[in-house]
Amino acid sequence: MSGRLAVIGLGPGDPRYLTAEAAGALVEADALYGYGPYLDRVPIRAHQERHPSDNREEAARAGEALRHAAAGGRVAVVSGGDPGVFAMAAAICEQIETGPDAWRALDVVVIPGITAMLAVAAQIGAPLGHDFCALSLSDNLKPWPLIERRLDAAARAGFVIALYNPVSRARPWQFGNAIERLRRELPPATPVVFGRAVGRPDERVEVTTLGAADATPAGTVAVDMATLVIVGTRETRTIVRPGLPPLVYTPRTTAEASI
Ligand code: SAH
Repeated sequence: MSGRLAVIGLGPGDPRYLTAEAAGALVEADALYGYGPYLDRVPIRAHQERHPSDNREEAARAGEALRHAAAGGRVAVVSGGDPGVFAMAAAICEQIETGPDAWRALDVVVIPGITAMLAVAAQIGAPLGHDFCALSLSDNLKPWPLIERRLDAAARAGFVIALYNPVSRARPWQFGNAIERLRRELPPATPVVFGRAVGRPDERVEVTTLGAADATPAGTVAVDMATLVIVGTRETRTIVRPGLPPLVYTPRTTAEASI
């Protein structure tokens, strides 16, 4: 019996963001693994086993899913957004590289999804219209000083920066610290976009500036685990429109030598 393991991106939330390929692969699976809230987005089908786990248990979940596939199962591992962006596809590869030889013989497919930064960018215009990078602010898997170096380098190099995992209950101070560092490199007027729970009923997208980005309760912006933050460059612009939300965009050309 030969098993199959599909690592599936569900997109940011709403079913309209689920690709046809992902929907097909979900139907074909006879066992689903993933972080509980992500599994809850997948319609229940009879005879389909569900194995929810906590979001800190990625390595264990990957190992379990691989064992299940190696025993002949048609297994799906689900991720929010894209499974290759700070998510399960790399966790699966890590386990395959260090695991039993049989895991290398498995039919493994990675099915892409719309990642949070693309969903947020599309809601507000084109902030990622020129060169950009993505950075996770979580220091669970890398040391904080490395994150600081990357933030400084990205801002100096003139990249728009998409910040994933800006805060969590266990990491309350990192976001404010990151904003402070970016202020050393970029002007206070630099546009900053906060996209929260995009594609879900409580979706909220707000535009602010680097100067005001860490304003808390009295200010306008609150950041949490479901928020993706896009920090612009010196080139990023906000177009104010009467009676309509602003458009934030980064022009396709840049004249300034930013390094
Ligand atoms: N694989 C996911 C990212 C996982 S990291 C993807 O490709 O989108 C988790 C972080 O992604 C969150 O802390 C948040 O920064 C961001 N995120 C995930 N879903 C989101 C959504 N619907 N709206 C805004 N940000 C989201």
